[in-house]
Amino acid sequence: MSGGRRIVVVGGGPAGVAAALAAKQQDSAAEVVLIGDERQEPYEKPPLSKAVLTGKALPEDAPIAGPKGVAAHGVRLALGSTAKAIDHDARTVVTEAGARIGYDALVLATGSINRVLPMFPPGRGGIHYLRTEADARALKARLHQSRSLLVIGGGLIGLEVAASAAALGVKTSVIEIAPRILARACNAEIAALIHERHATRGVDLCIDTAPRELRELADGRLAVETHRGAITADLIVVGAGVMPDDRLAREAGLPTQDGIMVDRHARTSDPAVFAAGDCARFPGPHGSMRLENWRHAQEHGAIAGRNAAGGDVAYAAVPSFWSEQHDMYVQGVGWPAAEPGGRVRRPLAGDAVLMFELDGPQVAYAWGINAQREIALARRLIERSIPVDAAELADPSKPLGSLLKAKA
Ligand SMILES: Cc1cc2nc3c(=O)[nH]c(=O)nc-3n(C[C@H](O)[C@H](O)[C@H](O)COP(=O)(O)OP(=O)(O)OC[C@H]3O[C@@H](n4cnc5c(N)ncnc54)[C@H](O)[C@@H]3O)c2cc1C
Repeated sequence: MSGGRRIVVVGGGPAGVAAALAAKQQDSAAEVVLIGDERQEPYEKPPLSKAVLTGKALPEDAPIAGPKGVAAHGVRLALGSTAKAIDHDARTVVTEAGARIGYDALVLATGSINRVLPMFPPGRGGIHYLRTEADARALKARLHQSRSLLVIGGGLIGLEVAASAAALGVKTSVIEIAPRILARACNAEIAALIHERHATRGVDLCIDTAPRELRELADGRLAVETHRGAITADLIVVGAGVMPDDRLAREAGLPTQDGIMVDRHARTSDPAVFAAGDCARFPGPHGSMRLENWRHAQEHGAIAGRNAAGGDVAYAAVPSFWSEQHDMYVQGVGWPAAEPGGRVRRPLAGDAVLMFELDGPQVAYAWGINAQREIALARRLIERSIPVDAAELADPSKPLGSLLKAKA
C-alpha cells in the first residue's frame, strides 16, 4: 500500500456505495475500493418489486451512483468479487478468488439475505424469492406468462409484488400467518386501510393463514394447503422477510446479534472496522435496532464512510420507509414511541391518509398514504422535536407548516 490511506468497502448496495462516495469526499487522497459480489454496476433495489416487475423499467435504469456510475467518483470497483474473510491482525480482506486486499479502514455493508422457508425451497420450479436484479428478471419472465400467483407473506415486499402482479392482470392471492398484514411496518389502522385497497384491486388477502403443505398438481400448477383449504397458483413468491448478512463480521470475531453491532459512529468493536445499512445494529432511542430500508442504508452508509476516512460524525438521521402498492404511496417516518401515546388522524383531501403517533407532546412517528408533502413536514416536526398540540394536528384548517413556524 502506498500514498494515501486505503478504505475498503464490502457490498455494492446503497450503504456500500454511499460509504465509498462519502469516504472519497472526506479524504480525496484516500484510495477507496468497493468490493461487490454482483457483477453489474450497483443498482437500486426498490424498483425491482415495482416498475421492473410490471415492465416499466429495467434494473440498470437506476444505478445507485447516477448515470456515470461509481467509478466516476474516483472509487475503484472490484465487482464480481466476494469477500470471504477478514484478517484483523493483518488488516486485510481475503476474497473468494484468493486476493488479499489490505485496508486502513474497512466498511462492511453486506446487506441482508432472504429468509428461506424450508417448505418453499428456492430453485424449485415455480418458486421465487426476490432480492437481486437476477431474481427480478427471472420472476418478471415467469409472471408475464402466468395467470395466477400466490404470495407467501403480507409484508412490504410481498404486497408490492402482489400489487405489480395484479396490475398485470394476474389473479393474485397472499397468505399471511399473522392476524394482519404489515405487522412490522405499519400500525393496525394503516394496515387495515392498505388491506382494504388491495381487496378492491382484486388481491385475495388471507390473514391468519399458515401454509401446511406444498403439492405439485398434474398440470404443473402448485397447490398450498392451509387450514382454510388449498390455494392453487402457477407461481409462488415468498416474501418472508430478511436476515442481516453478518457472516463476515461474525467469523472475524466481531460482536453480532442479529446484525453487526456498531456504535453511534457506525464503528464496530474494532476501531478500524465500520458497518452500515441492513447488516448493522446501531443504538436507537429505545435500545439497539436494525432497519431494512433504503434511506437508512444510504444515510448510515455515508456516516460509516466519512468516519472510516477520518471523520467524526454521529448517526442521527430520523428513519423512514416508503412503499408503492397499486395507487398508494405509503410512507412512515420517525422512531416508534417506546410506549405509544396518543394517536391522531388528520383528515386529508381525497384518498390521502395521515396519522401521527405522539410521545408526550411530540410527534414520534407519522404514517401517510399519498401524503408526501405532509410527511415531509412531519419529518421536520420529528427532527426538530417540536412540541405539538394534538387538537391542532388533527385540525385540517391549521396548516402543518404553521406548527413548524410557530414553535421553531
Ligand atoms: C425488492 C426490494 C424492494 C425494496 N423496496 C424498498 C422500498 O420501496 N423502500 C425502502 O425504503 N426500501 C426498500 N427496499 C429495501 C432496501 O432496498 C434495502 O434496505 C437496502 O437495499 C439495503 O441496503 P444495503 O446496502 O444495506 O444492503 P443491500 O442492498 O442488500 O446490498 C448489499 C450488497 O452487498 C453484497 N454482498 C454481501 N456480502 C458480500 C460479500 N461477502 N462480498 C461482496 N459483496 C457482498 C450483496 O450481494 C449486495 O449487493 C427494498 C428491497 C428489495 C429487495
